Amino acid sequence: MISVTLPHYTSLEQAITELYGADKKVVQTSRISGGDINDAYGLKLSDGTRLFMKSNARENVSFFTCEAVGLQAIAMTQAISTPSILCSGVDEARGGCAFLLMDFIMGGSRVANYWETLGRQLAAMHQTSTAELISEGNYGFLQDNYIGARKQMNTPHDKWIPFFRDCRLTPQFADAANCFTQSERRNISKLLEHLQDYLVEPEHPSLLHGDLWSGNVMAGDDGKAWLIDPAVYVGHAEADLAMTELFGGFPDTFYAAYKEVFPMQSGYEHRRDLYNLYQLLNHLNLFGGSYLPSVRRIVGKYI
Ligand code: ADP
Repeated sequence: MISVTLPHYTSLEQAITELYGADKKVVQTSRISGGDINDAYGLKLSDGTRLFMKSNARENVSFFTCEAVGLQAIAMTQAISTPSILCSGVDEARGGCAFLLMDFIMGGSRVANYWETLGRQLAAMHQTSTAELISEGNYGFLQDNYIGARKQMNTPHDKWIPFFRDCRLTPQFADAANCFTQSERRNISKLLEHLQDYLVEPEHPSLLHGDLWSGNVMAGDDGKAWLIDPAVYVGHAEADLAMTELFGGFPDTFYAAYKEVFPMQSGYEHRRDLYNLYQLLNHLNLFGGSYLPSVRRIVGKYI
């Protein structure tokens, strides 16, 4: 089973001392934008080492321990690069804020076949055995984690469709219940009851990134794509593919290369919106009503 023993420190200074030696200090801190949930910073140490730090309130330290496990799970597949995690901590001196330190992805010019390579790498990740990632059942994960700032249940299930219903759509619909009319709520219940009419069981379970939009893919200094900020679980590979299409889509070369390595089950186009319903409901619950029309459109399409 995958196990992550992440060092945990009680201040950033202690973390730097333990990891790099007492003579190293943070000499520069720059705010990095782009995230939705945490504060992000680039740190420069006195010897020139660059680090990436996320921080949040103390009570959210588990965002970071879960992110570390997720990145470790992706790294284990050896299919796609991810930044190495260095430690987590709660900095008592800075009002008790939780932090996560990882390698800084320097970025660089993309290799010519950047998207095609990512397509092949993601297909390879989706084809990797998941035996180390789940202790019982076939779908779920070793622990619950987060999708954005919201809890994501990963209770092991033998079958994909019940997992997707019980651990994905049902909790999100429950939290968004006030957004819907009574008749919409009846339709939602019907949709959940009949999910097996719309989805299919995968040929085999896959490790998913879980939040795979373009903002969570970065070019590393090798010019290839690196994955950041996952919400991993073991599920149907189609759910990751669907997410890549939700906010703009990846270039066609990505999908062509993916399918060459890992052909998709027929009818994916009819299932895509149901997978993205989970992500849209999560956005509705996190960020509010602007996502409601998209949610309603998808529910209406299947009922
Ligand atoms: P959040 O958890 O708030 O969603 P992200 O993980 O998306 O935050 O990180 C915020 C931004 O920081 C990203 O959009 C990206 O530009 C940058 N970033 C994330 N991880 C690294 C890293 N390891 N090295 C350098 N920059 C990073």
